Amino acid sequence: MVITHPQKSSRLGMPKKSKKSKKTAALESYFGPEADPEGNMRPEKAEWDSMEAFRTLRASRHVYHKGCDVSVRSSDSPENVWIAMVLSIRRRKTPLGIPLGWAQVQWYYSPRDVQALSIEGLPNDCFSSRERVLSDAIDLVPLTSFKSPVKVYKFNEEDWQPAEFDEKSYFHRYSLKDALDSPKLAPFPGQFSCICGTPYDPFPQDMDFAEAALDACRQRRGGTAPSRVELKADYMHYCPRPKCSRWFHETCLLHRTEMRHPEHTDFVGSLAVRRLAVDPDASFHHPKLARFTYEKPARGKNASVGEPSTRDVLAAALGPDRELGLPESLIAIAAMPIVRRAGQGTFSTAGNVRDVVVARRLVYQTLDVRLAELERLIRSLPESWDAASDALTYYRVWQFLGTQGMLASPRAAYWDRRVEELAVHAERPELHCPNCEGEFPVAI
Ligand SMILES: [Zn+2]
Ligand SMILES: [Zn+2]
Repeated sequence: MVITHPQKSSRLGMPKKSKKSKKTAALESYFGPEADPEGNMRPEKAEWDSMEAFRTLRASRHVYHKGCDVSVRSSDSPENVWIAMVLSIRRRKTPLGIPLGWAQVQWYYSPRDVQALSIEGLPNDCFSSRERVLSDAIDLVPLTSFKSPVKVYKFNEEDWQPAEFDEKSYFHRYSLKDALDSPKLAPFPGQFSCICGTPYDPFPQDMDFAEAALDACRQRRGGTAPSRVELKADYMHYCPRPKCSRWFHETCLLHRTEMRHPEHTDFVGSLAVRRLAVDPDASFHHPKLARFTYEKPARGKNASVGEPSTRDVLAAALGPDRELGLPESLIAIAAMPIVRRAGQGTFSTAGNVRDVVVARRLVYQTLDVRLAELERLIRSLPESWDAASDALTYYRVWQFLGTQGMLASPRAAYWDRRVEELAVHAERPELHCPNCEGEFPVAI
């Protein structure tokens, strides 16, 4: 049997023989005719169309299904293992009645495969070692070439709930379009990363070196912007506003602030309150916290007047007759910077973004609930549920509770545990989102 490599194969049944590479040759010798006494030749399009389709099919010890990712046997080195996504599985009946499975697959390209395409402007250090790029190169391969199912995580960096994976996992975040003719990456690596365009590597190979370089960079101050190597070990801060949803290097923003705003600015509220005011579901500060994000006159008489604590601010926002009723740990997490950092186990890919976003939503829910309206609705409820005409009132109460998000309650034990785990990442410097520069700075 003969199968072709992603880079060199064309659409179904039309191999581009003229574009053979070293890699194709390696594969052909592995799957060459001598290794295929059955003559399980690659089906032509007409045969493929008539073959029997399956949702799942067993091959050697594994079961494969439509949509799963698989590693494919090749003579390539283990770090360049071939991975593909299964689009469909079909079976060919041989004259001897032995069923032979074939799959239509979409190839993931390894960093080395992508670099071999010589895409203009692509730096040679923009991929993580276990990263793959989902191409639009589609191919037919026999199920006998499958080694095992694997998982390739979709890493959506803009998402507030990014996938959690470890350094042994494969992941992909970019697509390779028109892989066989004029390949293009979408998005281009680093296109939406920070102000420097350096892509995030969750598991850098040379973390000790990067950490030492970053330390040296911080000593340097002023002068030149941090280099890509230095940034590998850096903390990244996330702006959760839905239209922004971007990660920024701490050192890039500190450097920028030093260059552009050498004067320190004072604000009405503490850094914690100003971070808490940044709403993950809106393009403006939370209305009850916005006034704490205003700037104070620089170094004025009142500059040193003590800032109210986060709890005092929330109590004032709630009004005199209401209890906050939220665990201290949850409030602390809601006011944390949203950060991630490479080489920190599960913290590295996702950071604390999910916890902080959920905590902020729970705090807002307490601030926003229209209690007076709820009480009025409850007073309008009949004493007992019997008259059919009352159904509408119950329905209104139910709908109201739903819109207020009052059906969720924070569980203190979870937040108490998390605040301890995340405490190490809480003390980060004051930064403002460069992408949301407007009337009021967005503290991140
Ligand atoms: Zn940066
Ligand atoms: Zn922003």
